[in-house]
Amino acid sequence: MENQIFGILKKYWGHKSFRPLQEDIIESILEGNDTLALLPTGGGKSICFQVPAMVMEGVCLVISPLIALMNDQVQNLRKRGITAFAITNAKSKREIDVALDNAVHGALKFVYVSPERIKSQLFKERLKRMKVSMVAVDEAHCISEWGHDFRPAYREIIELRSLLPKPTPFVALTATATEDVIDDIINKLDLNSTRIYKKSFTRENLIYVVQEEGHKLNRMVSAIKNLRGSGIIYVSTRRETLRQAHLLRANGIGALPYHGGMSTKDRQETQTMWIANKAQVVVATNAFGMGIDKPDVRFVIHVDLPSGLEAYFQEAGRAGRDGKKAYAICLVNDEDRKNLEDRVRQQIPVKAEIKKVYRALVNHYQLATGIASEDNKVFDLKAFAKRFNLNPTNTVHCLKALEREGILSLSDAIFNPSRVHVLMNTKELYSFEIGHPKLEPLIRVLLRSYEGLFDHPTKVDEMAIARRLKSNYGEVKSQLEYLAELRVITFQAHTDLPFITFSSNRIKVDDLKLNDELLKAHKKRLEDKMMAVLRYTQNDVICRSRQLVAYFDDYSAEDCGRCDVCLARKKTKPAEGKQFESYKLIKEEIAKEPRTLGYLNRLPGVKSAEVSSTLRWMADNKEIIVSSSNVVSLKS
Ligand code: ADP
Repeated sequence: MENQIFGILKKYWGHKSFRPLQEDIIESILEGNDTLALLPTGGGKSICFQVPAMVMEGVCLVISPLIALMNDQVQNLRKRGITAFAITNAKSKREIDVALDNAVHGALKFVYVSPERIKSQLFKERLKRMKVSMVAVDEAHCISEWGHDFRPAYREIIELRSLLPKPTPFVALTATATEDVIDDIINKLDLNSTRIYKKSFTRENLIYVVQEEGHKLNRMVSAIKNLRGSGIIYVSTRRETLRQAHLLRANGIGALPYHGGMSTKDRQETQTMWIANKAQVVVATNAFGMGIDKPDVRFVIHVDLPSGLEAYFQEAGRAGRDGKKAYAICLVNDEDRKNLEDRVRQQIPVKAEIKKVYRALVNHYQLATGIASEDNKVFDLKAFAKRFNLNPTNTVHCLKALEREGILSLSDAIFNPSRVHVLMNTKELYSFEIGHPKLEPLIRVLLRSYEGLFDHPTKVDEMAIARRLKSNYGEVKSQLEYLAELRVITFQAHTDLPFITFSSNRIKVDDLKLNDELLKAHKKRLEDKMMAVLRYTQNDVICRSRQLVAYFDDYSAEDCGRCDVCLARKKTKPAEGKQFESYKLIKEEIAKEPRTLGYLNRLPGVKSAEVSSTLRWMADNKEIIVSSSNVVSLKS
């Protein structure tokens, strides 16, 4: 068996050896165990299920949260000569039908499924006849409200348990490892006597730095020029990606913006330029990164604070995947701390707002209530918000609240090609052509170029049609629209907007009951996460790397010796002279009762910098303990 998995690794992936834990995880799966793999970003999670799936008989089902991520992995497998397909809301019923048939007949090795598709009748029916080797749940933290990317539809995955024969192993993979999340994954997936593999979250080659900074642009420019190499700058709004990229370019740095509102083409272009090192820096919102695998990123700079440490760890972790020295820098000032609080407050919509958005959705899509068939609707946030006079950001958070309530689910935005379905039979079409000679060439090219037009909506490419007709894109598109108007065809123009899937049990607006507990718990979680970020930026006593991995319940880490805290500590001399006065004052204060770092930093008579260096010395000499909530107490 050992030889076999090495053979597969080499043959399909061209790698010479496994990375730490990969082999153990693969063996656990091959022994038929439910397995939980906790590997930091870049640890090589995909191979952990893809290699054993190649050994096992049958098709491997992979659940993944983002359509873009699924498409990426499917392409990656196909490039290696492995058969794979992604079932997402962006695919037509017919395409899914054919793919599921292929899976039943053993012609597919991997089927990626978005979680909301699991419920569909079509999928369930075929699943019964499929030989499934295992179920891989990628980004498994999405099942947990404690994770940073909660996807309520992940709760559907458990249904697979009852649909599949008993010994089908489940493997859950994630780069998040807090106890809460692990417990949730195990419970919600009903992982039986799971083998858990957890790689230390310490990233030896990453140097974490937090810098209090009023003039971020100057600092950023000098850091980028000093560090050289490729980097990512994270900001919190779409507008800022454009502004900061512009400012960096004005300072001679090749920077391009990236955010979820850009067209797929523009996003692709930014990504390609950056990966090919033709643009040094991408200035991005958190929409950038998942599924992107660039090994030589030398720095990740956060200009705005992230809303949780899980997100921070993942974003910062995109630096140095090649194992060479890299920096994760966080530039912060008090205004940012306040902005973060405002941003988090915005993510907690009130009931009335959520109801208003639901009412608008029902109007917008003319939704009938009661039991309806599940379907996907293209969702144009800008147009929707404008039509109903809503704030777009608030609207997104209301949609997420509705998603948590199980009323709908929202996909990510990906490119979805145009589709044409001919509504006439051949004879009718022929007489139509005679009556409309101008449209005849287009109809001819359509019929000659695409199969299945009469049976189902079929992907077409307006540019390719235009080339054949020696015409142009605009002309082809307007002729297709005209044909649709005349009801000769249906024409769905290509889009890169996300989809909304409404659950089949449609609730009337007035009957919409929002769960108070759910709303309250959501609020608390967001606030807890925000506090953890604020504490990380305020705690300049404990090694940054240790603070971060402790957040993931890993307390075994040593001081990294290279972060801003560790470097400052080396410079600190033992308490003596003038510093001794500060030391005495601080010690007396803590002796009265445990105090927060914030409180100690505001002690009258001592400069904040002196408080920090004294506390570092005291922590180093084991005189004090700093808790995870930044409370300092004397060590007894
Ligand atoms: P993760 O999902 O954990 O972030 P990926 O599965 O995307 O990581 O893998 C990250 C990168 O590491 C990919 O480029 C992958 O090809 C590479 N990789 C994974 N395993 C190995 C290995 N055993 N040897 C060499 N490269 C590997």
